[in-house]
Amino acid sequence: MSAADLQARLDAIVDRMRAAEDWGAVADYIPELARVPLRQFAIAVAPAEGGVAAAGDADVPFSIQSVSKIFALAIALGRAGDQLWNRVGREPSGSAFNSIVQLEHEQGRPRNPFINAGAIVTTDEILKGRAPRDALAEILGFVRAAAEDDDIYINDRVAQSENHHGHRNYALAHFLRAFDNLANAPELVLGTYFHQCAIEMTTRQLALAGRFLVGAPGLPRLVSTARIRRLNALMLTCGQYDGSGEFAFRVGLPAKSGVGGGILAIVPGRASVAVFSPGLDGYGNSLLGTVAMEQLARQMDWSVF
Ligand code: GLN
Repeated sequence: MSAADLQARLDAIVDRMRAAEDWGAVADYIPELARVPLRQFAIAVAPAEGGVAAAGDADVPFSIQSVSKIFALAIALGRAGDQLWNRVGREPSGSAFNSIVQLEHEQGRPRNPFINAGAIVTTDEILKGRAPRDALAEILGFVRAAAEDDDIYINDRVAQSENHHGHRNYALAHFLRAFDNLANAPELVLGTYFHQCAIEMTTRQLALAGRFLVGAPGLPRLVSTARIRRLNALMLTCGQYDGSGEFAFRVGLPAKSGVGGGILAIVPGRASVAVFSPGLDGYGNSLLGTVAMEQLARQMDWSVF
């Protein structure tokens, strides 16, 4: 497909989304995110052949939140290798992203690295033997290298805002520690985790940052092919929490969402796709972002199935 045809499709999707009646609701449990204007929508595609096509509010920076869990997982696997799986599982949870109930049944080993409990363990692994500042520098450095763009930062206000209201995440971290599955103090791990979640990117930057998961020649190569496959497998099965099955059914692509309203989806070998719309559905995934992904995947005949 020509660049002009792709651009026309993205523009048409933006027009349809902007006419939507139901925009969902912004995350309100993090006060800084509750202030984000609801009616925003953006989509961007970085094809394997190079370049990036974007439409809508594609240059507005937003909080990537749980989309950061992919980058953190790639780094933690690079440091710990398969040992990481002793501490965190690889099964869909079927529960909300911030749920605590399974953690007791599973003896403190979170179901997967994309729910909060699992991501806290992943960040704890990245923190091993160093200060939060250094761990965050590696995470930010990884994201910038993936996007080939140094103009990406952490929004400290968002991180502080979450820290002041992060009682559930503190509960998860203390619970993990009680099961001996947290090496560092909960305050240190969560301070790092909240800052990692508070990385801001535009939709265009996020599509570019996702290229390392596409697995095609000429794209930034930050992890091995075998690891790319595994990261994509986890995104497909666990990337949208208890909405993962529904997302696979509707969109058919591995993806990771965040409560800031971003979703990063991968078309293996072909493209990295990012959407942003801060209104969420009941699972905490972008409502219009999911609709747009579904439309684009169908139009482009993109699916892993
Ligand atoms: N920082 C958020 C939290 O821990 C991330 C959640 C999300 O994006 N689903 O609650």
